[in-house]
Amino acid sequence: MKTPLRILGALGATLLLASSTFAQAPKRPKIVILATGGTIAGAALSPTDPGYKSGAVGVDILINAVPDLKKIADVTGEQIASIGSQDMNDEVWLKLAKRANELLASPNVDGIAITHGTDTLEETSYFLDLVVKSDKPVVLTGSMRPSTAMSADGPLNIYNAVAIAADPKARGRGVLVAVDDDIHSAHDIVKTHTTDVATFSSGEAGLIGVALFGANIWYRTPAAIHTRASELSVGDGKSLPRVDIIYAHANMSPDLITAAAQNGAKGLVIAGVGDGNMTAPALEAVKKVIKQGVVVVRSSRTNGGIIRRNIEVNDDQVGTVASMELNPGKARALLQLALLKSSDAKKIQDYFDRY
Ligand code: GLU
Repeated sequence: MKTPLRILGALGATLLLASSTFAQAPKRPKIVILATGGTIAGAALSPTDPGYKSGAVGVDILINAVPDLKKIADVTGEQIASIGSQDMNDEVWLKLAKRANELLASPNVDGIAITHGTDTLEETSYFLDLVVKSDKPVVLTGSMRPSTAMSADGPLNIYNAVAIAADPKARGRGVLVAVDDDIHSAHDIVKTHTTDVATFSSGEAGLIGVALFGANIWYRTPAAIHTRASELSVGDGKSLPRVDIIYAHANMSPDLITAAAQNGAKGLVIAGVGDGNMTAPALEAVKKVIKQGVVVVRSSRTNGGIIRRNIEVNDDQVGTVASMELNPGKARALLQLALLKSSDAKKIQDYFDRY
């Protein structure tokens, strides 16, 4: 039986249309989720149980819990660690930095999202901001409620983190943190509340943007040096120098400062009262450990404002470094990396002025 030409023509046209539609199908960005644990992967016995175990849920379960991710990106996951972020350490930082740099160097990866506990999110994100060598987006996220909780905040935070990592407009803005519909710079974000879902703030510096179910609105680009432009790196990638943070308070004794140096700290960050201050005996101990080769940075326990040189402490005479905008946790991360380059307080001050 002869097939009428009209039918063959129509069939051909349909095939052509189908193949051209296929050819034009938008390519989804390739995003890798690196999971480290935290409450976002936490599990409780019931949706209202306040007690839970951090990092109990694996990355594939996290991804499968947000099926809409498939609409915005081609997502794969890797488990880097399964810890509450109170246990975050140099080893995991180095592993994360290495893997992030490897993935970002590949033309097959458009961006990275990292799931993390909220307790030390501000430190890990800033550490990565200093050592990731790429303009491609790196976006950390976490959650305040475990994955099994009523109104868990994790799924939308993961969705937003992936949508930001897939957004070309996120490129060149340094490492970002997506939480509670907000986009923060790693340089500025701090945790301000023990349990509130709206715990994160970027203080006076303000947000980088907002994330509205995948539609991102961008306000600014961070002013400090970061990622591809950063001169800092993880060195041989095997270890980082020990830097301790010591919290200043009324009647502060010199003992912890002395003990930190005796126990091998190469750097100290004083979480000073007010503008990076401490008692006279503590300052005397600082002078002594500086003479022994320890680099001491003055930060503040206030979580706001800028610690400049030579205000009440004469840094020029004492030999201390002023942390500028960095809170104690972030100052510690920068000091660890700066010490890989130099132990000269003036050179290290220069890093604190620019990063
Ligand atoms: N300790 C937990 C952590 O940082 C709680 C904070 C959270 O993830 O929300 O992993």
